[in-house]
Amino acid sequence: LAATRAFSIEVVQQLKQAGFQALWAGGCVRDLLLGRESKDFDVATNATPDEVRDVFGHDHTLPIGASFGVITVNGGRRRGQVEVATFRTDMGYSDGRRPDAVRFSSAEEDAQRRDFTINGMFYDPVEEKVLDYVGGQRDLKNGLVRSIGNPYLRFEEDKLRMLRAVRFSSTFAFDLELATQRAIREFASHIHVVSAERIAAEMRRMLVDNHRMIAVRMLRDLTLMDELLPELDSVVGHALRWSETYQSLERLQVADFSAAMALLLRYACQRSVLNGEPHRPVEPAAAIAARWKLTNDETKTIQWILRHEGLIRRADEVAWPKLQRLLIQEPAPLLIEAGRAIQRAKAISTEGVDYARSRIELPEEDLNPAPLLNGGDLIQAGYQPGPQFQRVLEAVRDEQLEKRIATTAEALDFVKVQWDNL
Ligand code: ATP
Ligand code: MG
Repeated sequence: LAATRAFSIEVVQQLKQAGFQALWAGGCVRDLLLGRESKDFDVATNATPDEVRDVFGHDHTLPIGASFGVITVNGGRRRGQVEVATFRTDMGYSDGRRPDAVRFSSAEEDAQRRDFTINGMFYDPVEEKVLDYVGGQRDLKNGLVRSIGNPYLRFEEDKLRMLRAVRFSSTFAFDLELATQRAIREFASHIHVVSAERIAAEMRRMLVDNHRMIAVRMLRDLTLMDELLPELDSVVGHALRWSETYQSLERLQVADFSAAMALLLRYACQRSVLNGEPHRPVEPAAAIAARWKLTNDETKTIQWILRHEGLIRRADEVAWPKLQRLLIQEPAPLLIEAGRAIQRAKAISTEGVDYARSRIELPEEDLNPAPLLNGGDLIQAGYQPGPQFQRVLEAVRDEQLEKRIATTAEALDFVKVQWDNL
């Protein structure tokens, strides 16, 4: 990280030596002024993409974003890459998401195309001077997220900015300026032009962060939640349930998207129960995961937490092997954290999850002993492979976890005696 930062200063220096204007731009300037670490250091310049390539040589540059005026300068494995963007003005946004074309321009104009004042500043890392055409420093001091220019026009141009506004505002614990809020309410129903991947990416960043409750509350206040997760509205609708959802999100002590999603979707996934329908709790979660193209891992984890949060919360009343089978699953620590957050949101005892947490610390040979038997062992013992195998092996595993059998020989005896019952 420090190496990338140093490299980006070198890039600025080289451009300046070649007679161009060059500055850090956007997020890294904001992070610098906030005293936060930046992942990337973007450089903006009045050099055209061709001129940038000439300065750093074709071997060290990638023209991947050249049509938008962005050249990637490669500093090698240790120093990483720096994106150098020509000052530009974005032209036309007919798809509500991306500019149709760009025109190269000046630093001042380039600031105007950026989304929020706190993201619209430049910084000269050589002279150590801020260049602020948009009042970003003042808003940063006051903790305010404000659109650059007319917020209606800015959200009309690019609907993704609505989610970015909520993300910056929640993760930095900043206020969202009023006209900016009003414009978001106006365009909330257009959020669907944003791709599922981008929506999911923004939601991940909001929900992983420990200000996730603020993010969810803002999305709801701004009516974006009705668009993004209409499933919540009809069900969580009741004020008390929303307040409990907020509380649990606030109390979640782990920076995990799936755990937070499970808390967010919990009441929506109980709809069938509330309506007295058969208990099929994870259906809405599956639909949402598909809609946002979440990873298989995320999808499975969210559903698994939703299926088992009730049980983990009364883990102290559950038979040990049953609890053990939960605790040996990979996302068990997340389940425990989600369960704890729910208990605390309800202001009731965490004894159950505390018990689960103490048991998950057991040594591996006690918590998750190696199986006594596998399919190969059954075949070797003369059994015909078939659909019964999995059931038999699970039963053997249960017996082992119940400590009723302890050796492979005992396991085979058990199978012989019980085969017809399994
Ligand atoms: P972070 O990287 O922490 O998400 P960032 O501000 O660096 O924050 P990026 O997506 O990396 O965000 O974008 C870099 C800069 O490009 C922003 O600071 C902003 O000036 C500009 N920018 C990014 N996305 C948009 C957008 N959708 N509309 C207008 N300007 C944008
Ligand atoms: Mg960035």
